[in-house]
Amino acid sequence: MSLKDKVVVIMGASSGIGAATAKLLAEKGAKLTISARRMNRLEEIQKSNVGADILAVEADVSKADEVQNVIDKTMEKYGRVDVMFNNAGIMPVNNLSEVARQEWNQMLDVNVKGVLNGIASVLPIMREQKSGHVITTSSVLGYELLPGFATYSGTKFAVRAIMEGLRQEERGNNIKTTILAPGTVNTELVDSINNDEVREGLKAARKQPGAEMMGMDPEEIASAVAFVIDTPANMAVNEMIIRPTGQEI
Ligand code: NAD
Repeated sequence: MSLKDKVVVIMGASSGIGAATAKLLAEKGAKLTISARRMNRLEEIQKSNVGADILAVEADVSKADEVQNVIDKTMEKYGRVDVMFNNAGIMPVNNLSEVARQEWNQMLDVNVKGVLNGIASVLPIMREQKSGHVITTSSVLGYELLPGFATYSGTKFAVRAIMEGLRQEERGNNIKTTILAPGTVNTELVDSINNDEVREGLKAARKQPGAEMMGMDPEEIASAVAFVIDTPANMAVNEMIIRPTGQEI
């Protein structure tokens, strides 16, 4: 089965990488379920892709029952799940001495538990189908550290471990796994950074001449996602690190 007609579920589809991936895959004829907490944003994506098969379901990935509902609705509409894209994420920035417990809990809930919820909800279906593909967005910060990003990095290292475990456990069941690890992408994630100095520093860096060397556009990451989904049946891209050419880490 090529990308056209594959059933793809995108979590965290309301903006950035998720929204760009939804648009590209819709153009390529995939059948989509898009999910996030902001239903109005999901409806905008539906409206701007008239004619495409797009189901929108609201969910907070940290809530297991809401993620399960996304998959149940997908099964009702399409009868299968070929790709689960665990892409929702948040990025508070702080030194370890300053991290508020609530912030840390929230980051674990979304970035780690959200991925586990996504995997748990599709595994029984993919095992039954004897095929499937789980893609999870980690980060270059899931491989390397930057000052202020220790907690975020912790979650992104964690999802790499979870995805490697999934690969080992499910390789006999024809379930592919991909860890997607982008460097800096120009999305709302930067605007949401809670540390003024880091946020404004990154925004200023984007405006410098040559800034295109320092950040990628979500559409470019979307094309990488389409590529890993469309590999031949007998091969999987297990890890994909994508850096802007000018980025150190
Ligand atoms: P973004 O903020 O535009 O997108 C994040 C998406 O996750 C949004 O749709 C948001 O609504 C959703 N989301 C957040 N919390 C959620 C929750 N509790 N339940 C459901 N949805 C939730 O930013 P982005 O850059 O497109 O981020 C997508 C992924 O890429 C994240 O996992 C992020 O950590 C990762 N990432 C981003 C960068 C970057 O530089 N932007 C680099 C590497 C990895």
